[in-house]
Amino acid sequence: MANRRPVIAGNWKMFKTISEAGDYAVKFLDEVKDVTDLDIVLCAPFTALHALKNELEESIVHIGAQNMAWADQGAYTGEISAQMLLDVACTYVILGHSERREMFGETDQEIAKKVQQALAVGLTPILCCGENLHLREEGQAVERVQGQVSRALSDLSIEDLSRIIVAYEPIWAIGTGKTASSQDAQEMCAAIRATLTELMGRTAEKVPILYGGSVKAENIGELMKEPDVDGALVGGASLDPLSFAKLIKNAGPLVARMEGI
Ligand code: PEP
Repeated sequence: MANRRPVIAGNWKMFKTISEAGDYAVKFLDEVKDVTDLDIVLCAPFTALHALKNELEESIVHIGAQNMAWADQGAYTGEISAQMLLDVACTYVILGHSERREMFGETDQEIAKKVQQALAVGLTPILCCGENLHLREEGQAVERVQGQVSRALSDLSIEDLSRIIVAYEPIWAIGTGKTASSQDAQEMCAAIRATLTELMGRTAEKVPILYGGSVKAENIGELMKEPDVDGALVGGASLDPLSFAKLIKNAGPLVARMEGI
């Protein structure tokens, strides 16, 4: 995992009230405060972000959102801007999650604009990509995922590209209990890195590529052994602070043994 610092990010989706988020943050920080060998991110609903800021700002746990607007500000009813995320101490934002693409009609073009907007204000975008079961069975998974990545990123400079994270999340593995095999995850993460190399040359070696899809404390270790899997985006298994901390600790000792970190 040449010189790439691993990242484990939790995606709470539409779960947790303000008080639940505050309680979680206190318990979670206590569990992970000594973890030094990877970056930890909690991506919470917008309404819970301020509670996380109160508990976690300047701690080793970074705060992220799950979406944002591509516009700066203005008449965009119901939207949340990148500046608003900075205001609640966010440093990361998930963009193009399959649930947003599938249920809310987000297009590659909109996602590309959101990635640019996030980078413009200094947020780290976690760009999600992934194929559905039909495309995988038809042998079109690599083409779909590489297309999503290049359509989201092709207008960026190499400098901007070096500030992104990509998360490969096969739709058939999200929330289903079915994890892609470590080998499937590795193959797709390597294919994503090949696309990044076309866009940014050898600097692509520096971009963290995460796997997401039913990652748990029991399977994180296997996934992290793969050379192009640099961490995980975790949905269901991030909802309980103690289990998520355990998942992180199961990734941690392995990471510490890796070269170049
Ligand atoms: C996700 O929502 O990004 C995700 C990977 O979910 P789960 O871990 O529950 O499959």
